[in-house]
Amino acid sequence: MADVERRKKRTAKRKRPRTPLEAFHLSYLCVTDLSAQVWCEQQAVYHKEKPGVQLPEKTTVVLNAGKSIHLARELQDHNLVPVKTNSREDRWAIKLLNILLTITNLRKGQRVRECPVFGVLEGVFVFGIIDQLNYTAKGELQLNELKTRERAYMPVPAQKKRDHFQVSLYKHLFDAMVQGCLTQDIFTHHLRLKLKQSLGQEIQEHAQKAGFVVQCFEDLLELVLLNLTHSDIPPIDRLQIEYIHQQTNTLLGTEVITYDQDELMSMSHYFLDYWKGQRDPKGVDIEDTWKCSYCLFVDICDWRRRKADSLIQKSSEKKS
Ligand code: SF4
Repeated sequence: MADVERRKKRTAKRKRPRTPLEAFHLSYLCVTDLSAQVWCEQQAVYHKEKPGVQLPEKTTVVLNAGKSIHLARELQDHNLVPVKTNSREDRWAIKLLNILLTITNLRKGQRVRECPVFGVLEGVFVFGIIDQLNYTAKGELQLNELKTRERAYMPVPAQKKRDHFQVSLYKHLFDAMVQGCLTQDIFTHHLRLKLKQSLGQEIQEHAQKAGFVVQCFEDLLELVLLNLTHSDIPPIDRLQIEYIHQQTNTLLGTEVITYDQDELMSMSHYFLDYWKGQRDPKGVDIEDTWKCSYCLFVDICDWRRRKADSLIQKSSEKKS
């Protein structure tokens, strides 16, 4: 009987259409996957469907210049230590160790760079990396996101909207983490990580140098959850984005973001609906078609073609 039930379940699962998360073999989403949907969801989907599409040489140069500025900032605070990883558990262990170091350094009132954040949003595991956390002169915990720009002026409102969403989501995930919302089972259930997996020699040594003795993934995870639950780290008070001109490395301007939890949740809900297979992807609205002229997928975009066809049909209906 049990076998019959199992077979039935397997058949039902096979018949159910795969969600985009399943189709792209994703066990989690990055914050940047969701913020890309603010700009154009269809474009974000094309990037996943066609990862081999080559970026124009100019875009690659711009991205590399941005990475160099980020790296230079990171190196102001600490050296990069290469650590060999042998398993998925090792790779997540590095993120967990970085969280432990973040907690330690924030407790000392120090500035922290490249802080990993994660959590579950509407049943989906979401991961991101905060550029910088520091305390202001007023004692507020501030998130500072660095955005580099090829052009020597501030971004247009559509780009700012994407960036505002991104930092707001970072705050949401970070606040939930320091309020002790992470649990062991989200790592096993969503990421399918093995708790008893031994950590690689280099990971164990790296942890020991930082003052943590751990042998398997579970040791480290328990340590992180304990530290987060009992941390006296406050939620993020202030969200700020610095826009830097790549070529000259000069500050173009700073945006202070007003956090709006309701708006963040409503946008996240809408974006996650796509990943959970509850609706089709959406391209840009008609007033935003200027974005298409910067898009790599403009020649193959179904959304754009369908919009153009419906406009032609409407105008011919009007004429007749
Ligand atoms: Fe989005 Fe326009 Fe690109 Fe299509 S062509 S993916 S609608 S930006």
